[in-house]
Amino acid sequence: MSSGQFCPRCGEPIERPDRSLPGNPTGQQATLCDACYFDSFELVAAPDELVVHTCAQCGAVERGAEWVDVGAADYTDVAIEETTEALSVHVQAEEIEWGVEPEQIDQNTIKMHCLFRGIVRETVLEEETTVQVRFNRGTCTRCSRIAGDYYASTVQVRATDRTPTDDERKRATTIAQEIVETREETGDRNAFITEIAEDTDGTDIRLSTTQLGRAIADHIQRALGGEITDSRTLITEDEDGNEVYRVTYAVRLPPYPPGTIVEPADDDPVLVQSAHGNLKGVRLTTGSRYEADAADGIDPDVERRGTLDDAVETTVVTIEDEHAVQVLDPDTFAARTIARPSYLDPGADTVHVVSVGSNLYVLPSDAIETE
Ligand SMILES: [Zn+2]
Ligand SMILES: [Zn+2]
Repeated sequence: MSSGQFCPRCGEPIERPDRSLPGNPTGQQATLCDACYFDSFELVAAPDELVVHTCAQCGAVERGAEWVDVGAADYTDVAIEETTEALSVHVQAEEIEWGVEPEQIDQNTIKMHCLFRGIVRETVLEEETTVQVRFNRGTCTRCSRIAGDYYASTVQVRATDRTPTDDERKRATTIAQEIVETREETGDRNAFITEIAEDTDGTDIRLSTTQLGRAIADHIQRALGGEITDSRTLITEDEDGNEVYRVTYAVRLPPYPPGTIVEPADDDPVLVQSAHGNLKGVRLTTGSRYEADAADGIDPDVERRGTLDDAVETTVVTIEDEHAVQVLDPDTFAARTIARPSYLDPGADTVHVVSVGSNLYVLPSDAIETE
Protein backbone atom coordinates (compact mmCIF):
# COMPACT_ATOMS: atom_id res chain seq x y z
CA MET A 1 0.00 0.00 0.00
CA SER A 2 1.26 3.46 -0.92
CA SER A 3 0.91 6.43 1.45
CA GLY A 4 -1.64 8.06 -0.96
CA GLN A 5 -4.24 5.54 0.15
CA PHE A 6 -4.34 6.89 3.71
CA CYS A 7 -5.75 10.25 4.79
CA PRO A 8 -2.79 12.42 5.81
CA ARG A 9 -4.85 14.09 8.55
CA CYS A 10 -6.61 11.22 10.36
CA GLY A 11 -4.68 8.24 9.00
CA GLU A 12 -7.81 6.36 7.94
CA PRO A 13 -7.51 4.35 4.75
CA ILE A 14 -9.24 5.97 1.74
CA GLU A 15 -11.73 3.67 0.04
CA ARG A 16 -11.66 5.04 -3.50
CA PRO A 17 -8.22 6.48 -4.10
CA ASP A 18 -8.48 6.52 -7.94
CA ARG A 19 -11.59 8.61 -8.50
CA SER A 20 -11.26 12.10 -9.89
CA LEU A 21 -12.68 14.71 -7.56
CA PRO A 22 -14.95 17.63 -8.52
CA GLY A 23 -12.96 20.72 -9.27
CA ASN A 24 -9.78 18.58 -9.46
CA PRO A 25 -8.35 19.59 -6.07
CA THR A 26 -4.60 19.53 -5.80
CA GLY A 27 -2.08 19.09 -3.00
CA GLN A 28 -3.22 18.00 0.42
CA GLN A 29 -6.88 18.73 -0.37
CA ALA A 30 -6.85 15.93 -2.91
CA THR A 31 -5.53 13.36 -0.49
CA LEU A 32 -7.86 14.02 2.48
CA CYS A 33 -10.62 11.58 3.29
CA ASP A 34 -14.19 12.92 2.78
CA ALA A 35 -14.76 13.41 6.51
CA CYS A 36 -11.62 15.57 6.92
CA TYR A 37 -12.25 17.37 3.65
CA PHE A 38 -15.80 18.41 4.57
CA ASP A 39 -14.70 19.30 8.06
CA SER A 40 -12.69 22.22 6.75
CA PHE A 41 -14.87 22.95 3.74
CA GLU A 42 -16.77 26.23 3.47
CA LEU A 43 -19.37 26.00 0.76
CA VAL A 44 -20.08 29.72 0.85
CA ALA A 45 -18.14 32.73 2.02
CA ALA A 46 -20.35 35.68 2.96
CA PRO A 47 -19.86 38.76 5.11
CA ASP A 48 -21.82 38.97 8.37
CA GLU A 49 -22.95 42.47 7.60
CA LEU A 50 -23.37 44.63 4.52
CA VAL A 51 -23.90 48.35 4.60
CA VAL A 52 -25.77 49.69 1.58
CA HIS A 53 -25.73 53.45 1.02
CA THR A 54 -28.96 54.72 -0.47
CA CYS A 55 -30.24 58.16 -1.37
CA ALA A 56 -33.18 59.21 0.75
CA GLN A 57 -34.31 61.60 -2.00
CA CYS A 58 -34.26 59.49 -5.14
CA GLY A 59 -33.66 55.93 -3.93
CA ALA A 60 -30.38 55.45 -5.81
CA VAL A 61 -27.88 52.92 -4.42
CA GLU A 62 -24.16 53.56 -4.15
CA ARG A 63 -22.05 50.89 -5.84
CA GLY A 64 -18.35 51.54 -5.58
CA ALA A 65 -17.80 55.13 -6.62
CA GLU A 66 -21.08 55.28 -8.54
CA TRP A 67 -24.66 55.96 -7.63
CA VAL A 68 -27.03 53.72 -9.55
CA ASP A 69 -30.77 54.00 -10.05
CA VAL A 70 -32.06 50.58 -9.08
CA GLY A 71 -35.73 51.29 -9.74
CA ALA A 72 -36.63 48.94 -6.89
CA ALA A 73 -40.11 49.27 -5.47
CA ASP A 74 -38.95 47.40 -2.41
CA TYR A 75 -35.55 47.54 -0.76
CA THR A 76 -35.70 43.80 -0.10
CA ASP A 77 -34.86 43.39 -3.78
CA VAL A 78 -31.84 45.62 -3.32
CA ALA A 79 -30.80 43.62 -0.24
CA ILE A 80 -31.01 40.38 -2.23
CA GLU A 81 -28.99 41.85 -5.07
CA GLU A 82 -26.31 43.28 -2.79
CA THR A 83 -26.08 39.98 -0.88
CA THR A 84 -25.73 38.04 -4.12
CA GLU A 85 -22.90 40.35 -5.17
CA ALA A 86 -21.09 39.85 -1.86
CA LEU A 87 -21.24 36.04 -1.83
CA SER A 88 -18.64 33.67 -3.12
CA VAL A 89 -19.29 30.00 -3.57
CA HIS A 90 -16.46 27.51 -3.35
CA VAL A 91 -15.00 26.68 -6.74
CA GLN A 92 -15.18 22.96 -6.10
CA ALA A 93 -18.91 22.98 -5.54
CA GLU A 94 -21.24 22.05 -8.37
CA GLU A 95 -24.95 22.45 -9.04
CA ILE A 96 -25.31 25.25 -6.52
CA GLU A 97 -28.81 26.22 -5.49
CA TRP A 98 -29.75 28.79 -2.95
CA GLY A 99 -32.72 30.37 -1.37
CA VAL A 100 -33.08 33.41 0.79
CA GLU A 101 -35.58 34.46 3.36
CA PRO A 102 -35.47 38.14 4.20
CA GLU A 103 -36.41 39.18 7.71
CA GLN A 104 -37.15 42.86 8.22
CA ILE A 105 -35.57 43.82 11.55
CA ASP A 106 -36.33 47.53 11.47
CA GLN A 107 -36.80 50.26 8.89
CA ASN A 108 -33.14 50.16 7.90
CA THR A 109 -32.16 46.56 8.56
CA ILE A 110 -32.98 43.32 6.79
CA LYS A 111 -31.56 39.96 7.87
CA MET A 112 -31.00 37.68 4.92
CA HIS A 113 -31.25 34.02 5.92
CA CYS A 114 -29.57 32.15 3.10
CA LEU A 115 -29.61 28.42 2.55
CA PHE A 116 -27.14 26.96 0.06
CA ARG A 117 -26.97 23.50 -1.41
CA GLY A 118 -24.25 22.19 -3.66
CA ILE A 119 -22.50 18.99 -4.63
CA VAL A 120 -18.91 18.45 -3.53
CA ARG A 121 -17.11 15.13 -3.91
CA GLU A 122 -20.40 13.63 -5.12
CA THR A 123 -21.93 14.54 -1.78
CA VAL A 124 -24.79 17.00 -1.26
CA LEU A 125 -23.74 19.71 1.17
CA GLU A 126 -25.99 22.28 2.79
CA GLU A 127 -24.92 25.43 4.52
CA GLU A 128 -26.84 28.20 6.22
CA THR A 129 -25.58 31.70 6.59
CA THR A 130 -27.10 34.99 7.66
CA VAL A 131 -26.14 38.33 6.22
CA GLN A 132 -27.40 41.43 7.91
CA VAL A 133 -28.02 44.20 5.40
CA ARG A 134 -28.11 47.68 6.83
CA PHE A 135 -29.36 50.63 4.78
CA ASN A 136 -27.58 53.86 5.38
CA ARG A 137 -29.71 56.67 4.01
CA GLY A 138 -27.96 59.78 2.77
CA THR A 139 -27.97 62.02 -0.27
CA CYS A 140 -26.48 61.06 -3.61
CA THR A 141 -24.22 63.36 -5.63
CA ARG A 142 -26.99 64.23 -8.06
CA CYS A 143 -29.54 65.11 -5.38
CA SER A 144 -27.08 67.17 -3.37
CA ARG A 145 -26.11 69.06 -6.53
CA ILE A 146 -29.72 69.71 -7.42
CA ALA A 147 -30.43 70.85 -3.87
CA GLY A 148 -27.41 73.15 -4.04
CA ASP A 149 -28.52 74.72 -7.36
CA TYR A 150 -25.34 73.41 -8.94
CA TYR A 151 -24.87 74.12 -12.63
CA ALA A 152 -21.97 73.92 -15.06
CA SER A 153 -23.44 75.60 -18.10
CA THR A 154 -26.15 78.00 -19.18
CA VAL A 155 -27.93 78.06 -22.51
CA GLN A 156 -29.13 81.59 -23.20
CA VAL A 157 -31.83 81.82 -25.82
CA ARG A 158 -31.76 85.28 -27.34
CA ALA A 159 -32.70 86.81 -30.68
CA THR A 160 -31.14 89.41 -32.96
CA ASP A 161 -32.88 92.82 -32.87
CA ARG A 162 -35.92 91.37 -31.10
CA THR A 163 -36.81 89.10 -28.22
CA PRO A 164 -37.59 85.41 -28.74
CA THR A 165 -41.27 84.70 -29.32
CA ASP A 166 -43.33 82.62 -26.88
CA ASP A 167 -43.22 79.75 -29.37
CA GLU A 168 -39.44 79.92 -29.62
CA ARG A 169 -39.07 80.01 -25.83
CA LYS A 170 -41.40 77.03 -25.47
CA ARG A 171 -39.62 75.13 -28.23
CA ALA A 172 -36.18 75.74 -26.65
CA THR A 173 -37.43 74.61 -23.24
CA THR A 174 -39.02 71.48 -24.70
CA ILE A 175 -35.80 70.62 -26.56
CA ALA A 176 -33.82 70.92 -23.31
CA GLN A 177 -36.30 68.79 -21.37
CA GLU A 178 -36.40 66.10 -24.05
CA ILE A 179 -32.63 65.83 -24.27
CA VAL A 180 -32.30 65.55 -20.50
CA GLU A 181 -35.08 62.93 -20.37
CA THR A 182 -33.36 60.87 -23.04
CA ARG A 183 -30.10 60.99 -21.07
CA GLU A 184 -31.87 60.02 -17.87
CA GLU A 185 -33.53 57.09 -19.59
CA THR A 186 -30.13 55.77 -20.62
CA GLY A 187 -29.01 55.88 -16.98
CA ASP A 188 -27.03 59.11 -17.15
CA ARG A 189 -27.32 60.46 -13.62
CA ASN A 190 -25.21 63.52 -14.40
CA ALA A 191 -27.81 65.10 -16.64
CA PHE A 192 -30.31 67.48 -15.11
CA ILE A 193 -31.80 70.93 -15.54
CA THR A 194 -31.04 73.16 -12.56
CA GLU A 195 -33.29 76.02 -13.54
CA ILE A 196 -35.25 77.50 -16.42
CA ALA A 197 -35.56 81.26 -16.04
CA GLU A 198 -37.64 83.48 -18.31
CA ASP A 199 -36.83 87.14 -18.48
CA THR A 200 -37.52 89.93 -20.91
CA ASP A 201 -34.39 89.22 -23.03
CA GLY A 202 -35.12 85.54 -23.44
CA THR A 203 -34.81 82.18 -21.70
CA ASP A 204 -31.90 80.98 -19.55
CA ILE A 205 -31.54 77.24 -19.07
CA ARG A 206 -29.03 76.17 -16.41
CA LEU A 207 -27.62 72.67 -16.80
CA SER A 208 -25.58 70.17 -14.86
CA THR A 209 -22.76 69.70 -17.38
CA THR A 210 -21.10 71.75 -20.11
CA GLN A 211 -21.50 68.85 -22.51
CA LEU A 212 -25.26 68.95 -21.99
CA GLY A 213 -25.29 72.73 -22.56
CA ARG A 214 -23.47 72.31 -25.87
CA ALA A 215 -25.83 69.55 -27.04
CA ILE A 216 -28.95 71.56 -26.18
CA ALA A 217 -27.62 74.75 -27.78
CA ASP A 218 -26.86 72.77 -30.97
CA HIS A 219 -30.36 71.28 -31.06
CA ILE A 220 -32.00 74.66 -30.52
CA GLN A 221 -29.92 76.17 -33.30
CA ARG A 222 -30.81 73.31 -35.64
CA ALA A 223 -34.51 73.74 -34.88
CA LEU A 224 -34.77 77.53 -34.76
CA GLY A 225 -31.75 78.80 -36.70
CA GLY A 226 -29.34 81.51 -35.63
CA GLU A 227 -25.84 81.37 -34.21
CA ILE A 228 -24.13 80.05 -31.09
CA THR A 229 -21.35 81.80 -29.23
CA ASP A 230 -19.80 80.46 -26.05
CA SER A 231 -17.90 82.06 -23.22
CA ARG A 232 -16.22 80.58 -20.16
CA THR A 233 -16.04 81.88 -16.63
CA LEU A 234 -13.56 80.49 -14.15
CA ILE A 235 -15.50 79.49 -11.05
CA THR A 236 -13.10 77.45 -8.96
CA GLU A 237 -10.25 74.96 -8.89
CA ASP A 238 -10.93 71.33 -8.13
CA GLU A 239 -9.01 69.20 -5.57
CA ASP A 240 -6.29 68.51 -8.14
CA GLY A 241 -5.77 72.18 -8.90
CA ASN A 242 -7.52 72.05 -12.28
CA GLU A 243 -9.45 75.14 -13.23
CA VAL A 244 -13.20 74.59 -13.38
CA TYR A 245 -15.14 76.72 -15.82
CA ARG A 246 -18.78 77.44 -16.22
CA VAL A 247 -19.74 77.83 -19.88
CA THR A 248 -22.46 80.03 -21.31
CA TYR A 249 -23.82 79.07 -24.73
CA ALA A 250 -25.70 81.99 -26.22
CA VAL A 251 -28.03 80.97 -29.03
CA ARG A 252 -28.89 84.09 -30.97
CA LEU A 253 -32.00 83.34 -33.00
CA PRO A 254 -32.33 84.88 -36.45
CA PRO A 255 -33.87 88.37 -36.65
CA TYR A 256 -36.61 87.18 -39.02
CA PRO A 257 -37.61 83.61 -38.19
CA PRO A 258 -39.97 81.58 -40.42
CA GLY A 259 -43.48 82.96 -40.12
CA THR A 260 -42.30 86.57 -40.08
CA ILE A 261 -43.68 88.95 -42.69
CA VAL A 262 -41.00 91.33 -43.91
CA GLU A 263 -40.79 94.01 -46.52
CA PRO A 264 -37.43 94.21 -48.29
CA ALA A 265 -36.35 97.62 -49.59
CA ASP A 266 -37.86 98.17 -53.07
CA ASP A 267 -39.65 94.83 -53.05
CA ASP A 268 -43.03 93.33 -52.19
CA PRO A 269 -43.85 91.91 -48.75
CA VAL A 270 -42.44 88.43 -48.16
CA LEU A 271 -43.46 85.61 -45.85
CA VAL A 272 -40.19 84.20 -44.42
CA GLN A 273 -40.00 80.42 -44.76
CA SER A 274 -36.37 79.73 -43.87
CA ALA A 275 -33.65 81.53 -41.94
CA HIS A 276 -30.91 78.97 -42.48
CA GLY A 277 -27.94 80.34 -44.41
CA ASN A 278 -29.79 83.23 -46.01
CA LEU A 279 -33.34 84.48 -45.71
CA LYS A 280 -35.82 82.71 -47.99
CA GLY A 281 -39.52 83.07 -48.47
CA VAL A 282 -42.39 83.77 -50.81
CA ARG A 283 -43.68 87.11 -52.14
CA LEU A 284 -47.23 87.79 -50.97
CA THR A 285 -48.12 89.66 -54.20
CA THR A 286 -47.19 87.10 -56.82
CA GLY A 287 -46.22 83.93 -54.98
CA SER A 288 -42.73 84.04 -56.50
CA ARG A 289 -39.67 82.92 -54.50
CA TYR A 290 -37.70 85.47 -52.52
CA GLU A 291 -34.11 84.84 -51.52
CA ALA A 292 -31.74 87.31 -49.87
CA ASP A 293 -28.25 87.78 -51.29
CA ALA A 294 -25.78 85.31 -49.80
CA ALA A 295 -23.73 88.23 -48.52
CA ASP A 296 -26.72 89.53 -46.51
CA GLY A 297 -27.45 86.10 -45.08
CA ILE A 298 -30.31 86.01 -42.62
CA ASP A 299 -30.17 89.74 -41.91
CA PRO A 300 -30.85 91.59 -45.20
CA ASP A 301 -32.20 95.13 -45.38
CA VAL A 302 -35.88 94.49 -44.66
CA GLU A 303 -38.60 95.91 -42.43
CA ARG A 304 -40.52 93.64 -40.08
CA ARG A 305 -44.25 93.93 -40.82
CA GLY A 306 -45.83 91.21 -38.72
CA THR A 307 -46.13 87.46 -38.32
CA LEU A 308 -48.52 84.67 -39.24
CA ASP A 309 -50.17 85.32 -35.88
CA ASP A 310 -51.59 88.49 -37.40
CA ALA A 311 -53.43 86.54 -40.11
CA VAL A 312 -57.21 86.87 -40.29
CA GLU A 313 -59.55 84.59 -42.20
CA THR A 314 -61.91 86.25 -44.66
CA THR A 315 -64.25 85.44 -47.53
CA VAL A 316 -63.26 85.26 -51.19
CA VAL A 317 -65.80 87.27 -53.20
CA THR A 318 -64.54 86.52 -56.70
CA ILE A 319 -61.41 85.86 -58.70
CA GLU A 320 -61.07 88.88 -60.96
CA ASP A 321 -58.23 87.80 -63.23
CA GLU A 322 -54.80 86.18 -63.18
CA HIS A 323 -53.40 88.89 -60.91
CA ALA A 324 -56.36 90.08 -58.88
CA VAL A 325 -58.81 88.65 -56.37
CA GLN A 326 -61.70 90.29 -54.56
CA VAL A 327 -62.04 89.55 -50.82
CA LEU A 328 -64.00 91.02 -47.94
CA ASP A 329 -61.89 93.46 -45.97
CA PRO A 330 -61.96 91.94 -42.45
CA ASP A 331 -62.10 95.43 -40.89
CA THR A 332 -64.72 97.14 -43.06
CA PHE A 333 -66.47 94.05 -44.55
CA ALA A 334 -66.41 95.86 -47.91
CA ALA A 335 -65.32 93.98 -51.02
CA ARG A 336 -61.79 94.88 -51.95
CA THR A 337 -59.54 93.95 -54.87
CA ILE A 338 -56.05 92.81 -53.90
CA ALA A 339 -53.09 90.97 -55.46
CA ARG A 340 -53.70 87.33 -56.37
CA PRO A 341 -50.57 85.23 -55.67
CA SER A 342 -50.01 82.03 -57.65
CA TYR A 343 -50.47 79.88 -54.53
CA LEU A 344 -54.11 80.97 -54.11
CA ASP A 345 -56.42 78.03 -54.72
CA PRO A 346 -59.04 79.37 -57.17
CA GLY A 347 -61.68 77.12 -55.59
CA ALA A 348 -61.15 78.45 -52.04
CA ASP A 349 -64.15 80.03 -50.29
CA THR A 350 -62.02 81.71 -47.66
CA VAL A 351 -58.38 82.81 -47.36
CA HIS A 352 -56.14 84.14 -44.62
CA VAL A 353 -55.03 87.71 -45.15
CA VAL A 354 -52.64 90.05 -43.41
CA SER A 355 -52.46 93.81 -43.63
CA VAL A 356 -49.15 95.53 -44.30
CA GLY A 357 -49.54 99.30 -44.19
CA SER A 358 -52.80 100.05 -45.91
CA ASN A 359 -52.64 96.95 -48.12
CA LEU A 360 -54.06 93.45 -47.66
CA TYR A 361 -52.22 90.30 -48.76
CA VAL A 362 -53.29 86.69 -49.14
CA LEU A 363 -51.16 84.19 -47.20
CA PRO A 364 -50.34 80.65 -48.41
CA SER A 365 -52.85 78.23 -46.88
CA ASP A 366 -50.15 75.63 -46.05
CA ALA A 367 -48.33 78.21 -43.91
CA ILE A 368 -51.48 78.72 -41.85
CA GLU A 369 -52.11 75.00 -41.48
CA THR A 370 -48.66 74.29 -40.09
CA GLU A 371 -48.97 77.05 -37.49
ZN1 LIG B 1 -9.23 11.98 7.17
ZN1 LIG C 1 -30.51 61.04 -4.99
